[in-house]
Amino acid sequence: MTVAVDKTKCIGCGACVVECPVEALDLIDGLAVVDPSKCEDHGKCVLVCPTNALAIPNQSPKAKEELDPKAGSEFNINDPQPDAIKDYAQDNDKKTIRAQVTPVAGGDVWSGVWVIIEYTNGKVAPVSWELLGEGRKLADAIGCGLSGVITGHQIDSVIPEAFAYGAEKVYVIDNPILKDYRTEPYAEAITSLVQKYQPEIVLMGATSMGRDVFPAIATKLQTGLTADCTVLGIDPETKLLQQTRPAFGGNIMATILCRTRRPQMATVRPRVMAMPERVDGREGELIQEEFTLSESDFRTKVLEFINTDAKSAFLDKAEIIVAVGLGLAAKRNMAIAEELADVLGATLAGSRGAVEAGWLNHDQQVGQSGVTVRPKVYIAIGISGAIQHLVGMETSDFIIAINNDPEAAIHKVANYGIVGDLFQIVPALTAEFKKRLQHGVAN
Ligand SMILES: Cc1cc2nc3c(=O)[nH]c(=O)nc-3n(C[C@H](O)[C@H](O)[C@H](O)COP(=O)(O)OP(=O)(O)OC[C@H]3O[C@@H](n4cnc5c(N)ncnc54)[C@H](O)[C@@H]3O)c2cc1C
Repeated sequence: MTVAVDKTKCIGCGACVVECPVEALDLIDGLAVVDPSKCEDHGKCVLVCPTNALAIPNQSPKAKEELDPKAGSEFNINDPQPDAIKDYAQDNDKKTIRAQVTPVAGGDVWSGVWVIIEYTNGKVAPVSWELLGEGRKLADAIGCGLSGVITGHQIDSVIPEAFAYGAEKVYVIDNPILKDYRTEPYAEAITSLVQKYQPEIVLMGATSMGRDVFPAIATKLQTGLTADCTVLGIDPETKLLQQTRPAFGGNIMATILCRTRRPQMATVRPRVMAMPERVDGREGELIQEEFTLSESDFRTKVLEFINTDAKSAFLDKAEIIVAVGLGLAAKRNMAIAEELADVLGATLAGSRGAVEAGWLNHDQQVGQSGVTVRPKVYIAIGISGAIQHLVGMETSDFIIAINNDPEAAIHKVANYGIVGDLFQIVPALTAEFKKRLQHGVAN
């Protein structure tokens, strides 16, 4: 006998998969599927299923009571469920996951790639444009349109920018309530647009605002969200969004799919995707929507802005970065790096090692738990190149690494890897740059 699945009741929560002691259950296209060759009728899956979608067919009442003396299953356990078993056998032969052709949520057609354009304090977060560039590739891979979404107040100047960076359509809600960012009004405004127009994919920068508002929107829409992605792609077979991000402390890259809910939502780290070409004068369709809620619907008010994040905001826009690591050995040696940074007009940053040693502030930390940077030149001094550091800087245009260990991982991402003692190399570089810059030599 094998556990049977009522597909009309299964919600794909995966509780049974976790509970099964013999790994006989799997989720395929968001539904529990039993491997009859492994199932031993333990019935633990039946007990944990929150929707009574599992049962052991033809189980005797006595056996049923032994399994769970308290519960009475709504599912008629004598109903044979041959479909589930048959489907598994067919799928298991091929070992493929079937494409989801019809979106599940709402049963309607969800189509299009949307980028939420972050506009606060009169400025657009540049990651919004980076995402329009990435969104273009995704939309082309799926064969759908690319749109931008702007919520805020007095946002007219942003609309032509969105078209210039590649949006074919721009959805706008312009209302005084949205003048300053607050979670609730922004989540309401964006959710109302998504519910009305049903995009398949919605992206936003993994900025403070994106990290705050996107979980609220995903919760309202009851869909999945992958935060802090560093790579996006489209599965050529299923057309699902492949959302890749570091996991387990950055030791592996996990690719996450949202198979059965819509839209597929992801936030993406700033400076990871390339900035697309800007085409001034490019035109598109503008869709303006009303904001139907009033101030009394919201519990929060903005009294004042206190900017505590000035350095990190600057760091992710820096064109030249001199970054230090524990190879510097002591805080007093920071002077070597500071002098090089001064000569080059560079911004000083560092590894988590250097931050934890107290040589730099946390907002100067580059990497997975710090800032992602993409400068024209990144000079890494005495940094080993741990994966958590690399994910924050490896897309820099030009990387120079100075490290006395020829095997250091930082050399693998560097355009120039200088193997040697930083206490000799950095002062020599500083002196040479100083000389050349004084004589007006650019290269
Ligand atoms: C969850 C998690 C998140 C993390 N997030 C981050 C993050 O955001 N950013 C980050 O940087 N790290 C992060 N880390 C820590 C990361 O794993 C490393 O421990 C850290 O990056 C190491 O810093 P480092 O390269 O300065 O030091 P080390 O690994 O100690 O490297 C020092 C390097 O200096 C070289 N060196 C020594 N003396 C000299 C010399 N005289 N001349 C030239 N070279 C010399 C050595 O060969 C060595 O390669 C994170 C870790 C975890 C678990």
